[in-house]
Amino acid sequence: MTGCGPSVAELHRRLLVGGIVQGVGFRPFVFNLAEDENLVGMVSNTSAGVLIEVQGPAQAVENFSRRLEEEAPALSRIVSVEKEDLPSLGSFLCFSIEKSRNTPGTNTLIPADTATCADCLSDIRDPGNRRFGYPFTNCTNCGPRWTIIDRIPYDRPFTSMASFTMCDACQSEYENPRDRRFHAQPNACSECGPQVWLEVGGNRVETDDVLAEAGRLLKAGKILAIKGLGGFHLAVDACNEDAVRLLRERKNREAKPLAVMVGNLDEARQFVHFDEAEADLLSTPEAPIVLLEKIPAGGENQLAASVAGGHRRLGVMLPYTPLHHLLLDQPGTSALVMTSGNNSDEPICLGNAEARTRLGPIADALLLHDRGIIRRADDSVMQVLDGQSFFFRRSRGFAPVPIFVRPGGPDVLAVGPELKNTICLLKNDRAFLSPHIGDLENLQAFEFFQETISTLQGVLECTPDVIAHDMHPGYFSTQWAQKQKATLVPVQHHHAHLVSVMAEHQLENPAIGLIMDGTGYGTDGTIWGGEILAGDAASFSRLGHFETVPLPGGDAAIKAPWRTAVSYLRHAVGDDAVRDLLPPSFENLAVGPVLEIVRKGINSPLTSSCGRLFDAVAALTGLWNEAHYEAQAAIEMMALTTMDDVRRAKPWAGIEASLVLPVGPFISAAAQAASDGVSPQEISARFHRTLIDTLASAALLASQKTGLSDIVLAGGVFQNEILMSGLMEALAGHGLHPLRPVQTPANDGAIALGQALIARAACGLQKT
Ligand code: ZN
Ligand code: ZN
Ligand code: FE
Repeated sequence: MTGCGPSVAELHRRLLVGGIVQGVGFRPFVFNLAEDENLVGMVSNTSAGVLIEVQGPAQAVENFSRRLEEEAPALSRIVSVEKEDLPSLGSFLCFSIEKSRNTPGTNTLIPADTATCADCLSDIRDPGNRRFGYPFTNCTNCGPRWTIIDRIPYDRPFTSMASFTMCDACQSEYENPRDRRFHAQPNACSECGPQVWLEVGGNRVETDDVLAEAGRLLKAGKILAIKGLGGFHLAVDACNEDAVRLLRERKNREAKPLAVMVGNLDEARQFVHFDEAEADLLSTPEAPIVLLEKIPAGGENQLAASVAGGHRRLGVMLPYTPLHHLLLDQPGTSALVMTSGNNSDEPICLGNAEARTRLGPIADALLLHDRGIIRRADDSVMQVLDGQSFFFRRSRGFAPVPIFVRPGGPDVLAVGPELKNTICLLKNDRAFLSPHIGDLENLQAFEFFQETISTLQGVLECTPDVIAHDMHPGYFSTQWAQKQKATLVPVQHHHAHLVSVMAEHQLENPAIGLIMDGTGYGTDGTIWGGEILAGDAASFSRLGHFETVPLPGGDAAIKAPWRTAVSYLRHAVGDDAVRDLLPPSFENLAVGPVLEIVRKGINSPLTSSCGRLFDAVAALTGLWNEAHYEAQAAIEMMALTTMDDVRRAKPWAGIEASLVLPVGPFISAAAQAASDGVSPQEISARFHRTLIDTLASAALLASQKTGLSDIVLAGGVFQNEILMSGLMEALAGHGLHPLRPVQTPANDGAIALGQALIARAACGLQKT
């Protein structure tokens, strides 16, 4: 207690808090904080944010204002606090939580789904707790959000919990501001809430312990379809090689690595190495799949070889719902392969009926429940790179939390690219990037795309009259946009890559972009993908690019890197020398016909793609002729080497710094090395070294030419951590300022963000 002087003057202050402050336990936090400081007043949710009035001794009001920001709930994100001291005192007798003012939401932010918190976890593990073993336990600090919301405001009647009426015990928690479940919309218990059951062959399994039975099936090598938070998983025991192989076979997923869910960090230590930052990322409320360095199999580590063979890293996640925790608590289920519940290329499955039809043929049993999933959300995939987050897929847990960009300009809907599609709704300073949608050539993904557009527009109460789309006329997203009544802005693919990174870093001045990508529609009729751009959202110029080379069969070459290799080698050494330099793995391939169509220019568009350069080099090592998933050859060739090897490797000679980057020297050096018997490991290391040096020199030239020093790295090829990390280091070494995507993936999952800002700039210009 302080002193005994004259009583301090009373203060009446109004605070308006903006950001992610609704559906995250913010009002009870404010209530308890006000009581703690002995203040009277009120708190209420409004369309502009959380409105607070406090009144009491000036010092206490100051303490309250400071602690409001310092101690805010874990899931909240305060973006702004407007304070105003009012001239007259209010007539408050106590501190109260007032009813939400459901005016149309101009600033409503929808919270994302959040992993089970420590308190709820101890509830479900405590035999004395009334939620012991209950798989749908949640509170204001955790649980489903986006995936159960039908419309706003975020209130129980507008969620898939509407059909469950709270029992008296749950209701009193819900109404008590001192309770962790105050206004927790999905609040439930085994008396009143959703239930879980198991189905085999269309029949419910009679058992008094569903999860124990599910655990027994998994232990016996069975494939389970498990209804989760944002969709279904297909699960098998990760240590059972036969089960994993069977899953791959039935799911039609030959080679792509599978992710594993383990019970806790200690269990994870058997399979992967991780440091503190990686442990933190595994344990965040967003609970993504984290790619971690594998421990070689053997001893403690009994992970089935076919989970992620040929990869240096394994995707690991921790349980993020009570159902997952309870399942992994069963004996013998300490590590499960958990892969999206779909056939390859289709979006993740949602409802029970859909699961019976689509997953029934894959799974031996279905673990179902009756809490509806309203919105799909695949697991997010990321890793830690140089101490910062590095996304491969930004989805569950992150979407639809906005990325904050510079304010001003019209609202925009951006419909994204064709593959790895996401869409973006840009509303003032908030860019709402949707969860991962998938490849739009797939009909179900295209339906999901349309559904996501109407959902985001509906929930955010924002239907922009400006739509941004890719320049590619054949993309389904482009064709959809062209059917809408709106101002259309076509955006060049790699310009969008550049601007998406500039947007998340809130760069104000133009930057140089090294955009190393697979495929994108160029402005000159060729296929771009190895670009040096300079510009900002308003405009860009193409300063340089990789030399163009014919791509035999166009996009078909993406699945057959050997064809690309033949054409690139021809480009490097000429028709006559090709056969002398091809490795033995090409012996039975139709090299002649490929040379023929390239020579005659039949269906062989020119490309500057960096992804294809990787394909060609990989095929020339003799290890990869085909790609069973996107960029397989490039990804697996990277896995042969390490950052340390690349640092030590000697660059190939004879590649001069230039803005038109040569392809030939890379190819002839790789082919020559392979035919001299140099190991694929060393070829990979030297290729990476040479590429890093060449790109860094080109960036320096571009910087000297333009006077710009911010260098943005983006495009799908930069999912290669060695290239990304090595080039960041090399650029900094040249005194340049490299920037990479941190909140979004380097791949096409971020395209919609760039499109949105470019369209905003275009419309802003038209109006002035
Ligand atoms: Zn909780
Ligand atoms: Zn209840
Ligand atoms: Fe791209």
